[in-house]
Amino acid sequence: MTAFDNQRSVFRFAPSPNGRLHLGHALSALLNQDMANASGGRLLLRIEDIDLSRCTPEFEAAIFEDLDWLGVSWEKPARRQSEHLDEYRQALQRLIDLGLAYPAFMSRGEVKAFVSKAEQQGRPWPCDPDGAPIYPPLDRLRSAAERERLLSDHHRHAWRLDIGKATAELGRRLTWAETGDGPKGSIAARPEDWGDIVLWRSDAPSSYHLSVTLDDALQGVTHVVRGLDLFHATAVHRLLQELLGLPAPAYHHHRLILGTDGRKLSKSAGDTALAALRAQGLTSADVRRLVGLA
Ligand code: GLU
Repeated sequence: MTAFDNQRSVFRFAPSPNGRLHLGHALSALLNQDMANASGGRLLLRIEDIDLSRCTPEFEAAIFEDLDWLGVSWEKPARRQSEHLDEYRQALQRLIDLGLAYPAFMSRGEVKAFVSKAEQQGRPWPCDPDGAPIYPPLDRLRSAAERERLLSDHHRHAWRLDIGKATAELGRRLTWAETGDGPKGSIAARPEDWGDIVLWRSDAPSSYHLSVTLDDALQGVTHVVRGLDLFHATAVHRLLQELLGLPAPAYHHHRLILGTDGRKLSKSAGDTALAALRAQGLTSADVRRLVGLA
């Protein structure tokens, strides 16, 4: 370690082990590595395995294997989110103590029924940037006594962020620094477009937003390089950073690799899986070309 180490840029590749890596992941991993190398920075690997119902050790082992084949090397050991649930729990508790998180009791089915009823009554229900309906306000409006009663009756619940209260208490607009393939420069964050996001799920510990924000800070990540599908989610991450007193990294959201149907690749897209390409005799140099990297 030199005295300059803490000034080096820190990049991370953060796949979820819930399927095989495909060409979209290859672009992300290779771009992270190229950018880390170009700036003399470090590359970390984070295994985003909080959803234990979908993540498996076999898929995790396959990630290591695919990255090795691609020629991507990262600092060992990788960070596994499932080993850090206490840290996410503490962050959730801080947001509860700040009065910014509330228990949310509606199931997916109940939300769906609420939304279709509203729409039948001629009230089009707003959606978040991913197209999911904004969480209805019923749980947010419950009295403290009612919340206590439901919690002590052990009703199944998630925890959600009161986004209106959080942005109002912050009292200023947030921005992030963006250098990616979409809009660039200083981007105005609009966390309110997401409604009351989930901080802690009822069926899995923590949430993507809470754990990714905390991990980037705890791992000292200075540059987040990931797909444009997460561009709008950055607004939520910026808000959580401010609420929890965490530093803001720079962001680079890269173009997505689309399938022949013009849609984003999914983990079940067998023929673009790196393992399938490897079995067909392709090399990592071929993959670089396929994803448009020199
Ligand atoms: N785990 C996420 C995924 O596999 C990526 C999260 C991120 O890069 O912020 O899509």
